[in-house]
Order: sequence, then C-alpha cells, then structure tokens
Amino acid sequence: TPSSSTIVIIGSGLAGYTLIREIRKLDKAAPITLITREPGYFYSKPMLSTALASKKEASQLITTASEGMASQLGIDILAQTDVNAIDTAAQELQTSAGLISYGKLVLALGADQIRITLEGSAVSEVITVNDLEDYEKFRKAIAGKKKVAILGAGLIGCEFANDLVLGGYEVDVIDLAPQVLGRLLPEPAARALQDKLSEAGVRWHFSTTVQTVNRNGDALEMKLANGQSISCDVALSAVGLRPRLDLAKSAGVKTGVGIQVNRHLETSSSNIYSLGDCAEVDGLVLPYVMPIMQAARALAPTLLGQVTALSYPAMPVMVKTPALPTVVSPPAKGADGQWKTTTVEGGIEARFEAPDGKLLGFALMGAATSQRATLTKELPPLL
Ligand code: FAD
Repeated sequence: TPSSSTIVIIGSGLAGYTLIREIRKLDKAAPITLITREPGYFYSKPMLSTALASKKEASQLITTASEGMASQLGIDILAQTDVNAIDTAAQELQTSAGLISYGKLVLALGADQIRITLEGSAVSEVITVNDLEDYEKFRKAIAGKKKVAILGAGLIGCEFANDLVLGGYEVDVIDLAPQVLGRLLPEPAARALQDKLSEAGVRWHFSTTVQTVNRNGDALEMKLANGQSISCDVALSAVGLRPRLDLAKSAGVKTGVGIQVNRHLETSSSNIYSLGDCAEVDGLVLPYVMPIMQAARALAPTLLGQVTALSYPAMPVMVKTPALPTVVSPPAKGADGQWKTTTVEGGIEARFEAPDGKLLGFALMGAATSQRATLTKELPPLL
C-alpha cells in the first residue's frame, strides 16, 4: 500500500514510463506506484499511425506487458484503475480502487483527440485513434473495407493517410486549412508532400470541413461545407489534441492550454508535478516524444530531492510519411521572420530565417532530411 512517502504517477504512456525509468537510474528503491486506466502495458504510440500497412495487430505493438514492467522497474501498478479526484490537502487520490495517498504526485495524463461538431446519424461511428485499444477497433473497422475518409491533414492525419494507401485503401482527406501540416510547413513544401501522397492515391479536400455524416446501408455519406459529398466505409478523425485537464482543474491545480508547470515541472499545488502531452511547460505544449524524454530526465532528480531545471533544445519532429520523408522544426509561435524554400537534388530545404538571417526553424524533405543534424545545431533552444 502506498504511503505518504510514495511517488505516485498517474498514466502509463511514454511520459509515465520514461519518468519511472529515469528515476530507477538514480534510485533503485524509492517506492513508486503507477495508476493507469490502461492495462499497464508499454507500447510505442507513434507506431499507431504506421502499423496498419504492415497489418500489425494491437498485441504486436506491445513491447512489455504490465507484469513485466512492474517487475523490471520494481514498482506497483494499479492497472485499469481510474483516478477520479485529487485531495491536495490530504495528499490523497480517489480512485476506482479506493483511496491512495501520495508523497509526490505526477500527472502524466496525456491528451484527448479533439472532436469537431458534426451532424447526422453516424456521428458516433467516426473513429479516433489515440491508444492501442482505439487502434484495434480501427483495424477491425477497416478489415475487408476499401475507402477511408480522414478528417484532418495534420501530422497524424497525413501519417494515417500514407499508411492506409500503402495498405491498399482509397483515402480522402478533408481539412479546413488550404494545405497539409498547416502550422508546420511553408506552402511549397506542403505542396510537395501533397503531390507525393496524391501520386500514392490520396485525394485532398482543402479549405473545407465535414458537416454531416450519415449511414447509408454499408456506406458512410459525408457532406462537406463546399457542397461536395464523399462516400466511405470508415471515417477517422485526426484534427488535433487537447490536454487532459479535468482532474487537475477540479482539484484547483492551475491549467491553461495544458496543466501549467514551471521549469521544475511543478504545478501550482505543492507536491504535484506534470509532464507529457497534458503539460504546459513554461507556456509550451509540445505533444511529442523528445520533449517527454527531456522532461523525464529533469523531473526524476527533482522528485528525489535534487531540484533540476528543464531545458529544451531544438527538437525536430519526423513526419512518418514514406511517400516523402519529412522533418520539421517549426519556429516559435509569432517568431519574426520568413520561410525560404529551395529545391535540392531529390528533396526540399525550407529555412525559416529571422530578419538578420538567423535560422529559427526548418522543414526538410526527401534527400534534404540528411541536413537535419547540421541545421538543428544552428537553431536556438526552445527553453
Ligand atoms: P499518453 O500516452 O496518452 O498516456 C496518458 C496515460 O494517462 C494513459 O495511460 C491513460 O490511460 C492515463 N490516464 C489519463 N487520465 C487518467 C485518469 N483519470 N486515471 C487513470 N489514468 C489516466 N510524437 C513524436 O515525437 N513522433 C512521432 O512520430 C509521433 N507519432 C504519433 C502518432 C500518433 C498516431 C499519435 C497519437 C501520437 C504521436 N506522437 C508522436 C505523439 C507521442 O506519441 C505522444 O507525445 C506521447 O506518446 C504522449 O505520451 P503521454 O504519456 O504524455 O500520454
């Protein structure tokens, strides 16, 4: 049973488990309890958008089962357990398995897929894929089917589109923006990715949105705001993520876009910390793997009494689109500067430069992705 000295971590995603690994590098014995809604297995979430073409079942994406994680890391796991409330004064959690005390609490709650408002009889049939169970449901839904429509041409939408065309599906992608990866790529680079994915069989519907989804026998019929109709077998929504805030909010822990933490990953409540997709670190919400690695490395010593400030170097993100491999390191929001895009042999190099010529962000495609390390060194740190 967890006591008042126990580190309690909520969430068994990359954030929760990476943090525990970092703690164990420093301290083999500190008592740790992991509470999670999921079965407690470890899997790689980024593979959810690249595993369909290779026909992988959900179980094949699990690296280690819950029991293995518990014994490997020397922790207690309360799996399939919901945390419903935090009593910050008593340092106690209300869970579906009863009351749990904590010495230090870490919120590694992740994010939910955003659902846009839709009308029609089949709204509840629109699928989102955000964890392994969703992936298995989606796999079952598309088995033996031909046509998938994807809402959203962002990172995850594009990756699924590429994976599905590789798997032999017909794919329509709808997005409100006039291009793919609206916030990450300048227009000529976006066009190159669109063209490659078009060649692979993706059909684009830009500057519009889905209004209604209705079931019509075996098919789903979508009506778009531009008057077009799309018929598909399965609809997948990938329009963005929203940090999970409810638990923190109702406990009086300060939230903004995410659960707000300082560079020590401390929330506004004492002995409560946060990292991963749910966290807003010094104003930044970065729902990617690399920021989690950095945050876990700083938070582990902090939890053990060696307070350590987090810094973020520039952290480029791979867009897993084999049709045109792409690496992006977007400029900070509101950064002053402009994109300069050049076509190089077998690829594209786009640099976002400040008025004084300093590199603030980049996008590299195809053969130009080999410049990733060189350009990353030129970038200023994020934090
Ligand atoms: P999650 O993995 O969502 O974990 C949250 C955990 O909290 C879960 O275990 C959940 O059950 C638990 N939880 C939440 N609330 C409660 C509660 N009240 N009680 C109990 N448990 C609770 N990033 C990259 O850098 N590169 C990529 O190529 C990439 N590809 C991606 C592809 C896809 C399809 C997706 C969806 C994401 C991708 N990402 C990628 C993002 C990356 O996967 C995430 O940043 C990362 O996995 C988030 O980990 P997390 O632990 O913060 O959240």
